[in-house]
Amino acid sequence: WAKSDGRGRWAVFDPDRHAREVARYTLAATMPAAVEHGEFVVEYQPLVSLESDRLWGVEALVRWRHPQLGLLPPDQFINLAEETGAIVPLGRWVLQSACAQAQAWQAIAGPDFRVSVNLAVRQAHEQDLTEEVAAVLRDTGLPADRLVLELTESAIMGPAAEPLRALHTLAEMGVRLAIDDFGTGYSNLAYLRELPVHALKIAGSFVSGTPTARRTSTDPVDERIVATLVELAHALDLTVIAEGVETDEQAARLRAIGCDVGQGWHFARPSGPAAITARLAAEHHR
Ligand code: C2E
Ligand code: MG
Ligand code: MG
Ligand code: MG
Repeated sequence: WAKSDGRGRWAVFDPDRHAREVARYTLAATMPAAVEHGEFVVEYQPLVSLESDRLWGVEALVRWRHPQLGLLPPDQFINLAEETGAIVPLGRWVLQSACAQAQAWQAIAGPDFRVSVNLAVRQAHEQDLTEEVAAVLRDTGLPADRLVLELTESAIMGPAAEPLRALHTLAEMGVRLAIDDFGTGYSNLAYLRELPVHALKIAGSFVSGTPTARRTSTDPVDERIVATLVELAHALDLTVIAEGVETDEQAARLRAIGCDVGQGWHFARPSGPAAITARLAAEHHR
């Protein structure tokens, strides 16, 4: 019902908004138990070398197999998990699962195959991040250089607008770092020189015009931006990965520009591990 905000004014009660907030609250409250009950699953999406057409790696992408709501994409719960802190146990579970799976793939994968795991802002700022990663690598037996951690620009910067120190420790351990959704945040680029970054992932919005705005793949401005980002990445000795590659034409243009790796529906959708196992096995015998 409409309630006074305490200053003698009345807020309009919006039943839709109220229902959404109750739903969010309920979802948030059940998340920690859902992690323990095994309701989350990890899918893997190929990262494909544009030169050789072979797997450069895979990105681990979490989904929630919710008993009532069905399969929920991360957009419906990651921000919520960040707000409540549930991202910490969930993120640890994803890291553990992805590293265990990557270790199992080692037997059939070439020496350059890696698994890429997204780190939330809150995880990146956890005090024990490096110990946690070290413990997972120890538990699973995955060599550190087979793990890539994907961080957005906002996850990389500490409170004092300084790059996080923990990232140096992780890099010294051999873990690779990738900047996710590159080009969508605010950054002064100085951190790229200071940080032990291995790869840049160009946001899909520049590559296929998704998800922020759908433009055509032939938009000359976007193509020039991508070409410039590829040049920048190579000047800094970084591998450059294009996200959101949806068409043949986009893949061809990226290859022509000199982009190293592509990810997107054109190559493959995220899937359970079996499809990756099959692809690795096929490449193994090629
Ligand atoms: P992201 O890390 O930038 O991951 C790429 C997203 O683009 C994925 O969405 C993927 O399914 C989607 N995608 C792949 N190819 C295409 C394409 O050709 N076109 C379009 N339009 N989209 C494509 P998804 O799986 O829904 O994940 C969304 C975001 O949720 C991720 O964006 C990442 O920020 C976050 N996320 C996913 N898994 C995790 C996780 O385990 N931990 C954390 N902290 N965040 C995660
Ligand atoms: Mg990512
Ligand atoms: Mg991304
Ligand atoms: Mg993202």
